[in-house]
Amino acid sequence: ILEIDHLAKAFGSLDVLNNLSLKLYNGENLVVLGKSGSGKSVLIKCIVRLLTPDQGTIKVFGENVNDLTDKGLEEMREKIGFLFQSGALYDSMTVKENLEFPLKRIKKGLSRKEIDAKVEEVLDNVGLGQTLNKMPSELSGGMRKRVSLARTIIVDPMIMLYDEPTTGLDPVTSDEISELINEVKAKYKTSSIIITHDIECAKQRPTASSCCKTGKSIWKGA
Ligand code: ATP
Ligand code: MG
Repeated sequence: ILEIDHLAKAFGSLDVLNNLSLKLYNGENLVVLGKSGSGKSVLIKCIVRLLTPDQGTIKVFGENVNDLTDKGLEEMREKIGFLFQSGALYDSMTVKENLEFPLKRIKKGLSRKEIDAKVEEVLDNVGLGQTLNKMPSELSGGMRKRVSLARTIIVDPMIMLYDEPTTGLDPVTSDEISELINEVKAKYKTSSIIITHDIECAKQRPTASSCCKTGKSIWKGA
């Protein structure tokens, strides 16, 4: 459902991605490992075309991302959930409002009742049913990650892209988020790419069916 073939991206003389190929099959969790600065975030940005690759092709749902019209690109992005490294929430909105925002934008025509039910369901699924009317500043880092995840998953994306979902969290919270990613995959039937520099976290992830690495060498199957 996502295929990258011989992708290359440089910034001036800095070769960030070089000859990177990978395939994400429907229902699969793919872990991409790479040390800090190796181009992991650049890879994700190329997938959703926030950056344009220098060489190579990226196909999402069989369509070449670089050939998409603006409308096609918008439709493609609606099917891809992107959990940013910073996990940015809207600080001036409550948790509930943060979750409603993408829902109203993408799933147009839902009734008030349907919106409330969906927000509650998703928030319960990330274990934060009690935080509906809290502000992001009242939550811990791990809780904010959960809310970000809920906000991404609420519009039923087919593919989830996680950029360093466990970075900056303590080991216990980090394990909980890894576990949650697996639960989300099972419940919402998403295919996922999980970007991390934490090799232990990658190994522990029981449902990761393949692995690849940014930087010079690429390996798959692990
Ligand atoms: P981290 O683990 O720290 O998040 P990363 O693997 O995600 O690292 P990237 O953010 O992908 O690293 O950046 C890879 C390299 O590309 C870095 O050297 C960075 O400075 C450079 N880079 C990224 N985006 C740009 C840009 N828009 N313009 C110029 N250089 C960039
Ligand atoms: Mg990064």
